[in-house]
Amino acid sequence: MTLYGVYGASGFGREVMPLLYAQVGDNPDAHCVFVDDSAAQETINGHKCVTFEQFVNYPSTDRAITLAIADGNIRRKLATKCKAAGLRFLSVKARNCMVLDQSPVSEGMILCGFATITSNVTIGHHFHGNIYSYVAHDSVIGDFVTFAPGVMCNGNVHIEDHAYIGAGAVLRQGKPGKPLIIGAGAIVGMGAVVTRDVPPGTTVIGNPAKPLVKD
Ligand code: UDP
Repeated sequence: MTLYGVYGASGFGREVMPLLYAQVGDNPDAHCVFVDDSAAQETINGHKCVTFEQFVNYPSTDRAITLAIADGNIRRKLATKCKAAGLRFLSVKARNCMVLDQSPVSEGMILCGFATITSNVTIGHHFHGNIYSYVAHDSVIGDFVTFAPGVMCNGNVHIEDHAYIGAGAVLRQGKPGKPLIIGAGAIVGMGAVVTRDVPPGTTVIGNPAKPLVKD
């Protein structure tokens, strides 16, 4: 039996489980469960919910897990824990997502419905492309990057590790040899229109996007 785990049984995890089930559910040896450290309920939407310890000790010949929690820093922490426990990571792709030429699917990537990755895109581990988001040609995306629904990442954009791009944000196209850069850990607010590089760790909002000033 192969045991498949969706780590995180909250909002995003419940959206990812049906995608995983559509991907592997035909296999009678596959068993899909939620993994959640709170594991407040025994079943969610008809799927068993177990703790991490229960998952790693479950009688099974093979185990794979996908990290379905939007916060990239939590995903990084959980990836380290899963790796130490010898788990392999699973990529989950909605049947109607698209990945075009020379854009390898990365370890632990989750692509939700209608998400699109066009040609010659490089993406790091544990990327989340939520519904209706896209990454266009020649972009380079780091590890643990998160796209909320409807993100439009145009061509030649580089996004460094752990950046979070909010719903409906638009990232202006860069140029070959001069990409638009979103720095590590940056946050782009929902609906922002990003026309310039965003420094690491900075939150930007608005159109054109500017650093958020806290009062
Ligand atoms: N969670 C967990 N272990 C952790 C951190 C989070 O099991 O180390 C679970 C947490 O109990 C919650 C889910 O992950 O059920 C995260 O839910 P949240 O609504 O914060 O995120 P989303 O589903 O929106 O990505």
